[in-house]
Amino acid sequence: MKDKVYIFDTTLRDGEQSPGASMGINEKLKVALQLEKLGVDIIEAGFAVSSPVQFDAIQLIAQEVKNAVIASLARAVEKDIDAAAQALKYAQRKRIHTFIATSPIHREFKLKKTKEEILKQAVYAIQYAKQYTDDVEFSAEDATRTELDYLVEVVTAAIDAGAKTINIPDTVGYTVPSEFTKIIRTLKEKVPNINQAVLSVHCHNDLGLAVANSLAAIEAGARQVEVSVNGIGERAGNAAMEEIVMALELRKDIFGVETGIVTQEIYKTSRLIVSVTGIQVQPNKAIVGKNAFSHEAGIHQDGVLKERRTYEIMKPEQIGRTHSEIVLGRHSGKHGLQARLKELGYTIQGDDFEKVFQKFTEVADKKKAVYDDELIAIVSECLSIDMPEMLFLEHVQIMSGSNALPTATVELKKNNRIIREAAIGNGPVDAIYKAINRIAGISPELEDYGISSISIGQDAMGEAMVSLKYEGKVYSGHGSSTDVLVASAKAYLNAMNKILYLERKKEEK
Ligand SMILES: [Zn+2]
Repeated sequence: MKDKVYIFDTTLRDGEQSPGASMGINEKLKVALQLEKLGVDIIEAGFAVSSPVQFDAIQLIAQEVKNAVIASLARAVEKDIDAAAQALKYAQRKRIHTFIATSPIHREFKLKKTKEEILKQAVYAIQYAKQYTDDVEFSAEDATRTELDYLVEVVTAAIDAGAKTINIPDTVGYTVPSEFTKIIRTLKEKVPNINQAVLSVHCHNDLGLAVANSLAAIEAGARQVEVSVNGIGERAGNAAMEEIVMALELRKDIFGVETGIVTQEIYKTSRLIVSVTGIQVQPNKAIVGKNAFSHEAGIHQDGVLKERRTYEIMKPEQIGRTHSEIVLGRHSGKHGLQARLKELGYTIQGDDFEKVFQKFTEVADKKKAVYDDELIAIVSECLSIDMPEMLFLEHVQIMSGSNALPTATVELKKNNRIIREAAIGNGPVDAIYKAINRIAGISPELEDYGISSISIGQDAMGEAMVSLKYEGKVYSGHGSSTDVLVASAKAYLNAMNKILYLERKKEEK
């Protein structure tokens, strides 16, 4: 059997730290269930101690996900480890991921601690976490800027203390492949008990090298790689899951390793992350970008028509993309829809399917062709989990024009009750948002607003994205519709529901 590289997905933790990517608890669950289908080995579901939403999301994911290991991040302090353990209580397989910074700059300015103190704290945290689970991962934060002999010392002590996975993060995206190779090789050579743990890497993309550095580390012997879908994450992001997985898959001749990823689920996962975070993928992005399989130059097109492999190193089908773009129309019916959903990898039945079908008919009535990406957006919108405090859009009506005051009438549903409000605004979108504020009883600040089209053509579905600021925190939301004003209303409600969830949590306390 070939060597296995474990895929540790941190889309829900590090990925969510991307500005504006905050997800609601139901959205996180949806992502986790898709990650499980994708076949990731470990899902880092959040940072339990950091907020009630994080805690609740980890708890819910721990209950629902059956195969993947569920991890929570925790600083190397008792309070964090206790919270992680509590959130993970019901997980079938759980991991506590504890970390402390080891580099001189973090020791001196952030932690104000000596090398000895940090080493002691790391060992204590690992031992403390071991009372909850045998599966403890330790990260030496900012490892790539840590003195190599000190790093060897810390890693040796961490394994002695019982850490089963040792993670070497390039926290600030500073290393380069040749240097990282040297770090991993040195650890393999100089840490006497290195074979008792899995060596892991976690790379950031500040110099655009996250994937290259991760692959270099795997060649040098790392056997776990920490990634995020579409490469989202702090600042310039994390190593992109799809790029690493496909490089390992296509270049087995170089790497000689396997992953447990079902590559046909990659594209669907990528689209789900776009839809729950509102963060679009750049068109020329490797593997999952809009243009990743488009051939523009005549010579290339000619070559591809004669033999695809002339200019294509992989088939779009390998990652679950299809060549046929137009899919369904008004007359497709339930059978057509079910068949297409199946081709896209969805098994949706019963009430859920009825919901999707109803939404699909509404969209198909308004436009001739429904494209795959639009279908995926419909599915992800329909299959959300209801919470009692949530507001749903029933109806929106706008009056505006060059001589009229923009006026919106909004009807929302909450707990099966219809609530109606009207408001005047500076423009139609502003009027809608003011009417929603009246119903919700709070007025968050609109920080950012944008609209883009999901597919092509004049009648394409629009996707709206908003960022709301409320009590110092930013909440993002997104929504799609064939009508941009309806999409704008949905996006606003999506962000508003995240705020309302937190408000209810505060009241419960
Ligand atoms: Zn990170």
